Amino acid sequence: MKNNRICELLDIQYPIIQAGMVWCSGWELASAVSNAGGLGIIGAGSMYPHILEEHLIQCNAATNRPYAVNVPLLYVALEEHMELIIKHKVPIVFTSAGNPKKWTATLQSHGIKVIHVVSSRKFALKAEQAGVDAIVAEGFEAGGHNGREETTSLCLIPMVADAVNIPVIAAGGIASGKAMAAAFALGAEGVQIGTRFIATQESSAHQSFKDKLLAVDEGDTKLMLKKLVPVRLVKNGFFKRVAEAEARGADVNELAAILGRGKAKKGMFEGDLENGELELGQIAATVDVIKPAAAIVEEIWQEFTDACQRMGSVIA
Ligand code: NDP
Ligand code: NDP
Repeated sequence: MKNNRICELLDIQYPIIQAGMVWCSGWELASAVSNAGGLGIIGAGSMYPHILEEHLIQCNAATNRPYAVNVPLLYVALEEHMELIIKHKVPIVFTSAGNPKKWTATLQSHGIKVIHVVSSRKFALKAEQAGVDAIVAEGFEAGGHNGREETTSLCLIPMVADAVNIPVIAAGGIASGKAMAAAFALGAEGVQIGTRFIATQESSAHQSFKDKLLAVDEGDTKLMLKKLVPVRLVKNGFFKRVAEAEARGADVNELAAILGRGKAKKGMFEGDLENGELELGQIAATVDVIKPAAAIVEEIWQEFTDACQRMGSVIA
């Protein structure tokens, strides 16, 4: 793509980025998206260091195109993850859920590009001050970890794009080339897409979770656990227990006890659709087929160019 700072920064053909998603995006998905001309991201938040290392070795063997690793900054063994990323010469890191001040300069001193995920203008400005190369502005529609302010993508993207000088990647509610064109109209120079890339052969998500994604409809997800860590969940048995506790005013400790440990793995990786945590974005309601990741990249790019031409013809 011409005159696009995200393609130039990341050295990719299309500014289509597959989001890092715990338990759902390992090396197979990331390398498939990168080989198709987008940017694939390994979601490291669910990986013990030795597992991340295995994924880095496999990804380096499966693609010679740039790929990235997403590291939630609250990950328990953060230092070990960063050491592995430097050791295996990962070209790009997406940080999220925390303050990017501490790691940005270190990673950049090793030639690594750093992109930080935010859900508000305030944190976009802080991330820019911390020296990151670009920002992902992720709106309320997104699955998984989310912001507290509930700012939707339509409001967030132009706010962030107007506030910062570095390029902005839009996320939250995007699964098509039409939505990508809308994000570009709002000032974004790239898109990050999560939910749609779970519906691929290459995603490491459990087959039952992929099937659930195809079945999810309007209103089937909701932002929960705002007292603890805001996260958009699919409505299931686990969701019901959280909702009941929140309705009776449960405090942080009680919510943490209900959350317990390893619920994301149980739901999305082991396929326990009733008792596990299932994270999907609102746009899941439009996803109804499992495809190879490369086909999704191509389809989104085609829809995007069609949408841009359609809008251009309105002016002409
Ligand atoms: P908190 O209110 O828990 O903030 C925790 C601390 O970290 C505060 O000291 C805060 O600074 C600082 N901080 C947090 N985020 C940033 C940032 N992006 N840049 C600079 N400093 C930061 O944070 P919230 O609960 O509001 O947000 C939770 C985090 O989740 C945010 O970092 C947000 O970017 C992230 N997020 C992650 C997503 C993902 O992983 N996919 C998606 C959406 C959001 P201060 O004291 O100055 O407020
Ligand atoms: P829990 O504390 O409930 O459980 C930890 C999970 O992470 C377990 O399933 C465990 O696997 C696995 N794990 C990976 N590395 C380690 C390690 N070094 N020590 C202990 N456990 C490890 O956490 P969650 O499952 O709720 O979340 C895991 C991480 O993913 C967190 O950092 C969280 O912030 C992040 N996250 C990021 C999201 C995003 O980026 N969008 C969305 C949701 C979560 P095992 O069961 O095999 O021991």
